[in-house]
Amino acid sequence: MADKKCLGNFPVADAPGYEGMLQCMRCGFCLPTCPTYVLSGRERSSPRGRIALAKAVADDQLEFTTALKEEAYFCLDCRACSTSCPSGVHAGQVMEACRNQAQAAYPLTGAVRKFREFVLQRMLPSPDLLETSMLPARLYQKLGIQWLVRHSHILRLGPDWIAKAEGMMPELHPPLRPQLPDVMPSVGPRRGRVAFFLGCIMTLMYPEVSRQTVKVLTHQGFDVITPKDQKCCGAPHLNEGDRETTRRLALYNLELFMALDVDAIVTDCAGCGAALKEYEELLEESGDHDMLHAFRSKVKDISEFLAEQGLRTENLKPLNKQVTYHEPCHLCHAQNISRQPRELIKAIPGIEFCELNEASWCCGSAATFSLKYTSESQLILDRKLENIRATGAELLVTANPGCHLQLAWGLKQANMPQQVVHITELLGMATV
Ligand code: SF4
Ligand code: SF4
Repeated sequence: MADKKCLGNFPVADAPGYEGMLQCMRCGFCLPTCPTYVLSGRERSSPRGRIALAKAVADDQLEFTTALKEEAYFCLDCRACSTSCPSGVHAGQVMEACRNQAQAAYPLTGAVRKFREFVLQRMLPSPDLLETSMLPARLYQKLGIQWLVRHSHILRLGPDWIAKAEGMMPELHPPLRPQLPDVMPSVGPRRGRVAFFLGCIMTLMYPEVSRQTVKVLTHQGFDVITPKDQKCCGAPHLNEGDRETTRRLALYNLELFMALDVDAIVTDCAGCGAALKEYEELLEESGDHDMLHAFRSKVKDISEFLAEQGLRTENLKPLNKQVTYHEPCHLCHAQNISRQPRELIKAIPGIEFCELNEASWCCGSAATFSLKYTSESQLILDRKLENIRATGAELLVTANPGCHLQLAWGLKQANMPQQVVHITELLGMATV
């Protein structure tokens, strides 16, 4: 991108799209849907205000100030504003592109810069290295050090984000990627063949969830291919403003998955699904358009895929549970998948579905937002927890690991009885 012209006062090429900024007619419909605006009451922390800041930079009326950098990172990228905007403005994606600009305008230095580069450019793109990096955390739990740390309350002495990160850690198990067979054959009458995109957080933090995803897919009649050399989708890099590494990962995954003879590329991680579906836009200047389009049409969230194919219910056993559903932002707002998870939950015999008020309101996780802005994240989470409490449900279903971590932690802190389960865990419980 280095030979491309910069847009206005944006410091490097690869700026947010100018046309998208022009579409904002300042109507304000987005304001009540934006969690950071509702929290702060500040115009600059609203979708409209963020677009105005970015447009002023594009129009040479404003330097790329720290205010824009702060807003780029304070934005949850929850995309609720995209759903509510009558003009098709995507403030979250504009802010995502501004994070890349912020890294050029205000570069990190020294050890922090080296650490960031190591994590984004070496560790995340290498599944082996990533999996090895989790070994100390597993030993920390297995050797009882976690128990000691939690009972000594030593974490109260450090910054809030360390205590929260430690508290959110689920019980860790060996990563799933090396354990999954390359091919898992379908069970019962065969309906097709799919590739499984196993996200980094899913394999490391929730291996049992993704095991259930594979079980559900095979019991629904699909052979499941899991390419072991798949890499991170690039969502963490977009989130941290490293678009170049995202593009490298995107090109790699694109070629790997398009070489497979499969009907669909299925993921059980809403964040990964949204990132994979956006490869077409991300690579529009460097990729093969036909291939990108074909890839985009093959990528399916697990709920989207099962609802499209029709859930086989004849072998589902009844689950007599009261269940509610929290919509991950990257499923409902980024992928427009809202109806399908509810249909699947309600199709399980015995389930009593309790609709959650403000189900599509962010839970406050938003990748690293929950650790960078711990108090704001807590306020957003509190609103969600009150709505969950009002349902009286025993199970809280969701479909994204970031939401899962945040909600499980929040429920535990609030001494609430609900258990968080991924939608494929629920389907897996009912699958015999
Ligand atoms: S972003 Fe959309 S909804 Fe918000 S003020 Fe602009 S046009 Fe209106
Ligand atoms: S993506 Fe979310 S936090 Fe960011 S501007 Fe839109 S509604 Fe607000």
